[in-house]
Amino acid sequence: MSDRDHSQNDTKSDDSDGETYSPRTPRRTPMACQFCRGRKMKCDGRPICANCSRRGIACSYVPVSAQK
Ligand SMILES: [Zn+2]
Ligand SMILES: [Zn+2]
Repeated sequence: MSDRDHSQNDTKSDDSDGETYSPRTPRRTPMACQFCRGRKMKCDGRPICANCSRRGIACSYVPVSAQK
């Protein structure tokens, strides 16, 4: 009896994180700073992201190879 019906609900907009996240990102990894990347955290992509700002650490981004 472990057959759960995985019906796809369209109610996954409540993140309770209060972070603005564009729902229109198909498959592109959002720019995340080193810290967030290393910790797999959600980076808001600001010059000094919320996570770093909160910890008071230096927020640094690594320039991805310019591919266009
Ligand atoms: Zn970050
Ligand atoms: Zn950061």
